[in-house]
Amino acid sequence: MRIIDNVVSGGGTSSSGRSAEVFDPNTGQVQAKVNFGDQSTLEQAVAAAQAAQPGWAATNPQRRARVMFKFKQLIEDNMEELARLLSSEHGKVIDDAKGDVQRGLEVIEFACGIPQALKGEYTQGAGPGIDVYSMRQPIGIGAGITPFNFPAMIPMWMFGMAIACGNAFIIKPSERDPSVPVRLAELFLEAGAPEGILQVVHGDKEMVDAILDHPAIGAISFVGSSDIANYVYARGTQNGKRMQCMGGAKNHGIIMPDADLDVAVNDLIGAAYGSAGERCMALPVVVPVGEDTAERLRDKLVSAVGSLRVGVSTDPDAQYGPVVTAQHKARVEEWIQKGVDEGAELVIDGRGFKLQGHEEGYFIGPSLFDHVKTDMDTYHNEIFGPVLQMVRANDFEEALKLASDHQYGNGVAIFTRNGHAAREFAARVNVGMVGINVPIPVPVSYHSFGGWKRSGFGDQNQYGMEGMRFWTKVKTVTQRWPDGGGDGSNAFVIPTMG
Ligand code: NAD
Repeated sequence: MRIIDNVVSGGGTSSSGRSAEVFDPNTGQVQAKVNFGDQSTLEQAVAAAQAAQPGWAATNPQRRARVMFKFKQLIEDNMEELARLLSSEHGKVIDDAKGDVQRGLEVIEFACGIPQALKGEYTQGAGPGIDVYSMRQPIGIGAGITPFNFPAMIPMWMFGMAIACGNAFIIKPSERDPSVPVRLAELFLEAGAPEGILQVVHGDKEMVDAILDHPAIGAISFVGSSDIANYVYARGTQNGKRMQCMGGAKNHGIIMPDADLDVAVNDLIGAAYGSAGERCMALPVVVPVGEDTAERLRDKLVSAVGSLRVGVSTDPDAQYGPVVTAQHKARVEEWIQKGVDEGAELVIDGRGFKLQGHEEGYFIGPSLFDHVKTDMDTYHNEIFGPVLQMVRANDFEEALKLASDHQYGNGVAIFTRNGHAAREFAARVNVGMVGINVPIPVPVSYHSFGGWKRSGFGDQNQYGMEGMRFWTKVKTVTQRWPDGGGDGSNAFVIPTMG
């Protein structure tokens, strides 16, 4: 049995004896065991981070960037291996797994430019003989708690920026697919990072709580489901930490009557069913505007969904693979039943799908619902599976209101040929990331990623300049070098520029 261990400078073994099984979702077989750390593992990691971080922060940013350049090269060299490993634990198809690695790598590319991003501000002559300048300094030790669905990209969103800014970083990956974060940490060390700068501790709620309560950890980034994001945010901020917590999603795709339906349907099925719907930027809700649009869309969707190929994650012709665990498969199928019970029309039922030769794999066929209503639980909640729900809207205002009023506000997309409608929609919708004829509007690495409402707790986005700000503190210096003569000002009155 393959054992996945903590990556902690000096060993990181744990006496907890707790572990979890890691499955191959294609077969339903256990393929590895991940050893959970405990409080002592975390203490060891924190001590190593404390020892390494001051030297790393004092290393000039150009040298830190060189480690990022080398790391980028190593990821490229190991892309195939990383993608296969990722796919074998997560279940997403190989090309999609490469995309997962690549989107994280793009944040590393941004982090290669950290000397430029970290430059402070300077005002010469802010007062008589007075200059003011600001500098960005690292927090010290940062931590990341990540979900199962992007085991390469999301860890790199976090540690790429945090470490380039001069922090040490401890990551607690999802216990369901922990191998890729471990491999990334090994490659990071190989790239020349000092021991203790990037470490991995495994576990579940127990380890998360230990991280949230550790006084030496100054900032924590979390990505996962909303209830846990909310809990993590509350406990971390209560402990005085800087927190950034991204939660779940229920992204809407608005189809205007003038949209190019063939393009929109192609985009929609990729965004709804790709990665078996296990993406926080998936489009699980489609909102056709007007009855005529709805009928035309439904016909095209039924035919497109009917020709989708579900297969093992190594099948180059498969469009999506299994979901991550047996429990998750059961939960998604319960949601489908709930949709039926609530009165939505199940146009295509993906339950009971069996892949020949892989009967124990966690496969779910694509499901399509029509006539989903806003008071249904299945509309209100995230299903996170290959299920597309159609909610019909009468007009633009109703479609805009649907996306704006939903409890989640991660992403949204509008499909139209009308620039005015698109512009109006982007300006008014109450959602953090908007696509205009772009189904999955995950911003490029030099912008930043973040949802609104219950999709994001905290006030700084992931990566880009927002990420740099999250992982650093501003220090502002006001300096004067008197010539000895004095300026005659009254030191008892607060200085002003009046
Ligand atoms: P999850 O919330 O179950 O787990 C996320 C992390 O929290 C894991 O590391 C897990 O070990 C830990 N955790 C689990 N239970 C905990 C508890 N009770 N207390 C403290 N920590 C706990 O999420 P998941 O199933 O791994 O990932 C899927 C979810 O993540 C979906 O809701 C998806 O929308 C969301 N997600 C959001 C974004 C985003 O940027 N908004 C990106 C990716 C995924």
